[in-house]
Amino acid sequence: MKSISILGATGSVGLNTIDLVRHNPKKFNVVALTANTNVEELSRLSIEFDAEIAVIADESKFPALKDALSHTTIQCGAGEAGLIEAAERESDLVMAAIVGAAGLRPTLAAVRRGATIALANKECLVCAGDLFMTEAQKNGARLLPVDSEHNAIFQVFAFDQAKSVEKIILTASGGPFWNRRDECLRSVTPSEAIAHPNWEMGQKISVDSATMMNKGLEIIEAYHLFPVSPQQIEVVVHPQSVVHSMVQYTDGSVLAQMGSPDMRTPIAFALSWPERMKAPVERLSLPDVGQLTFSKPDFETFPCLQLAMEALEQGGAAPAILNAANEIAVEAFLNELIAFTDISSVVKATLDKIDMKAPQSLSMVFALDLEARNTAKSILDKFRR
Ligand code: NDP
Repeated sequence: MKSISILGATGSVGLNTIDLVRHNPKKFNVVALTANTNVEELSRLSIEFDAEIAVIADESKFPALKDALSHTTIQCGAGEAGLIEAAERESDLVMAAIVGAAGLRPTLAAVRRGATIALANKECLVCAGDLFMTEAQKNGARLLPVDSEHNAIFQVFAFDQAKSVEKIILTASGGPFWNRRDECLRSVTPSEAIAHPNWEMGQKISVDSATMMNKGLEIIEAYHLFPVSPQQIEVVVHPQSVVHSMVQYTDGSVLAQMGSPDMRTPIAFALSWPERMKAPVERLSLPDVGQLTFSKPDFETFPCLQLAMEALEQGGAAPAILNAANEIAVEAFLNELIAFTDISSVVKATLDKIDMKAPQSLSMVFALDLEARNTAKSILDKFRR
């Protein structure tokens, strides 16, 4: 039996994790579950899996959570302190699946107790990269990548021969607007942007996939997770999402991990690592897929990708600013306040406006994140529709 806590249990990654736990009742028991506002789903899941503690981030929902669990022995928590308590609870594995920089403090709490962490929350690494990795190393925390691309690389990367790795090749589906030109993108709606052709994901990452900021964030994530330089990370557009990523070696070999586009495969890998477990996913049939195609990214139509690559090259404060501004811009787009193509403009204007001093501590990261959010919000006004 492995004990597991799921931060962000009610989201897309959280529910895929829950599905695997449900299919394997003898393998896992649940310690802590968390959500932001969705009390109904959180309490339902906590009762189904007899969790030790259920935490709702939105403190105004705490009374509703307590009420829903009043007939059980499940403990209730709320707010950031509650999320941290959930992450600190002893468990064999923590699934870090909160979306955005909001996941940083709770994931850090798990890191600081030296936990094994299935890491879905890429924003942690984007906004606090080096400091987060140093903390993980110092506390002996193990990070198992859940993002399908990084999970693929983790599976084919020869860590004991890292010098023989020439490059990492991250595949990108291209999102729903691949092959569209910039002028057609100005008028796309949030519902069009979140309709990803291959993956069912939360709204924020779906918009990030549509702008290709997601691939940019993943480049930064890969840089921190694997011993490679920014120049050794390449992006290739592969609309079928069958090859999840590749590693190229000095002898010319390219190792790829493939599978149907279903997050339960990388999640299952992380849940059962170092072993493998059965996952109820559709098996890949290459004859049915027929063709696998690959092409170079279009940096002009998808400027977010370029912005993220530049932020990684620049280092220091740039990735944290990029991430915070992107979160604000995506939220504004989802609320129909700005156009799809304004997302990159807001991010760029925020990067241009903030002093780029590198944060030397995690508290500086939080201050920088806040400053970047406030700056991005003030910039939004220029783009409001
Ligand atoms: P969702 O939006 O579907 O779910 C997010 C989860 O986090 C929900 O449980 C939500 O609670 C909770 N949450 C949201 N905001 C807060 C907050 N401020 N404080 C605490 N909890 C919060 O996101 P995804 O599952 O799509 O993505 C989660 C992470 O995994 C992201 O970092 C994403 O980039 C990464 N990822 C996702 C993939 C996917 O397939 N979805 C693939 C690869 C990586 P509530 O339901 O109450 O709102």
